[in-house]
Amino acid sequence: MSETKTHGEKAFVLNTGRSLMQGISMEAESKWSEKYFNAVAIAEMNPSDIAKLGITDRARIYNENGSVVLRIRPNSNVPAGEIYIPMGPWANMLTDPVTDGTGMPRLKGTKVFVEQTNEPLTSLIDILKELGAKNLEIHMEDAPVKTGERRTVENVVCPFCGDLCDHLIIEIDGNMIVKNTGGCAISSAKFLNYHKHRVLKPYLRHQGKLIEVSLDEALDKAAEILANSKYPLIFGLASTDIEANRYAVELAELTHGVVDNTSVFCHGPTALAVQEAGAVRYTFGVAIHLADLVIFWGCNPLEAHPNHVARIVLREGRFIKGRKSRKIIVIDTRRTPTANLADLFIQVEPGRDYELITALRMAIKDLDIEAPSVAGVPKEKVLELAEMMKTAKYGVIFFGLGLTMTGAKYKNIVAAIKLVQELNEWTKFGLLPMRGHYNVAGSNQVSLWATGYPYAVDYARGFPRMIIGVTSATDLLANGDVDAALIIASDPVAHLPRKAAEHLSRIPVIVIDAKWSLTTAFADVIIPGAYVGIECEGSAYRMDEVPIRLKKLVDPPPGILCDSEVLRRLVEKVKLKKGVVYE
Ligand code: SF4
Repeated sequence: MSETKTHGEKAFVLNTGRSLMQGISMEAESKWSEKYFNAVAIAEMNPSDIAKLGITDRARIYNENGSVVLRIRPNSNVPAGEIYIPMGPWANMLTDPVTDGTGMPRLKGTKVFVEQTNEPLTSLIDILKELGAKNLEIHMEDAPVKTGERRTVENVVCPFCGDLCDHLIIEIDGNMIVKNTGGCAISSAKFLNYHKHRVLKPYLRHQGKLIEVSLDEALDKAAEILANSKYPLIFGLASTDIEANRYAVELAELTHGVVDNTSVFCHGPTALAVQEAGAVRYTFGVAIHLADLVIFWGCNPLEAHPNHVARIVLREGRFIKGRKSRKIIVIDTRRTPTANLADLFIQVEPGRDYELITALRMAIKDLDIEAPSVAGVPKEKVLELAEMMKTAKYGVIFFGLGLTMTGAKYKNIVAAIKLVQELNEWTKFGLLPMRGHYNVAGSNQVSLWATGYPYAVDYARGFPRMIIGVTSATDLLANGDVDAALIIASDPVAHLPRKAAEHLSRIPVIVIDAKWSLTTAFADVIIPGAYVGIECEGSAYRMDEVPIRLKKLVDPPPGILCDSEVLRRLVEKVKLKKGVVYE
């Protein structure tokens, strides 16, 4: 729904989200590639808005946070008055760093203005320069692979998204992965290109240029930065194993810094809601074998978790005979590809999910809803949805960032938990977050076991505290509170609003990653890491909190260690520099 005029211009509502091509392009060819640019540097608008604004092929999109020129693609599934940009550096120039005390920036529902232009498209380099990148050098290399003995490994786990699909059959020729059976398109892009565009050597930035150094020199410099820092941020961790996460917590304690993971800008609000209202979870097994009603709320698994629907919803379970005996409902602000599969699609106005949940809670209790529509949904549809929920034998809700990032943020999830708790007075129901990075649930678990808090854990006073809106990564960076950063298997420059990403240009940054990310352009120390689930064994937690062991398929490139070993060595060096001796 559009807001009306400001300074004579019509404001649009910007929503960001994942897309299939975004995932495939970054895994197949890296975020520095033309393919990624073509997949992510675009905006989709309703054709009626495009015609009204006289847009030919591109437009300038701007607000008080920044401005970008993007190609405009017509999409009649985007409601008039809204604009959709895939998550990434272009969208980040416009998103709002304000977290409303939740740690979650506003990545959806941001007000933007749009105007026809003939200016050049905004390139990745334009953005990195504007953010203050320290240098735009990258030294992408392909790891050496050669054919040889052929092998097939079964029951391989895919280390990409929170589904952790564990039924893949991977065929290997020498140390080349040549076939992925069972994985989705993103999974194939990851496995078949694991050796490409790698960081193969450690680097230090010296007088503005990256120079190759030994691993020991890079670790020494990283330890020096962390030991000298008054308040470092240790961040990322959702795309590595729980073993590496453990060392990250230890580093935060040693340096009196903060350890935060990427759940802070995805399902952090879910963790807050669980602390307030409890959890009403289920496992994939329950959904497969028992669920006759599946609701996707504010998520689009066909693009973000491509195997999810086939694996969980279309599959025949013990008591449910496949798709025919299940009802599927999608609740979203726009008609997504997942919505096209649904028996019922409910289009909710952006940022008004809380009202819809409240109306459903009323309908379930047979309380009268006086308004003819709620959050843009006619009252009859609300009643129909409530009836479908009450009469289900076993209902499950998968929810995504459409709920956690918009409107009431964590209060949306509190309301959804209460809705599901109340539904359990009638029937059986569960609620599960669609987790993005493959081990973001594991990062929360390790943080919880080790500190008592799921993310944004501050050790400034020597003991763990979590003060959301203060000790959360976006707030710490946007407010300029931290004086160094260690980024582990993550790319905050591709995910954080501009104001937060800019602070990385002003402080020493250490990056541990397998590939050249956008954050490497801000790094003073770069240490290569091996891929968990391909080059290293490790454990991760699926989105339903089930721990799964990932396999090692091939050896890492020469001299490259698993993240957990890199961090173990870094912990030892920081201890030495700080003179810490444990009994
Ligand atoms: S759905 Fe996710 S975990 Fe499953 S194969 Fe695709 S990317 Fe991998």
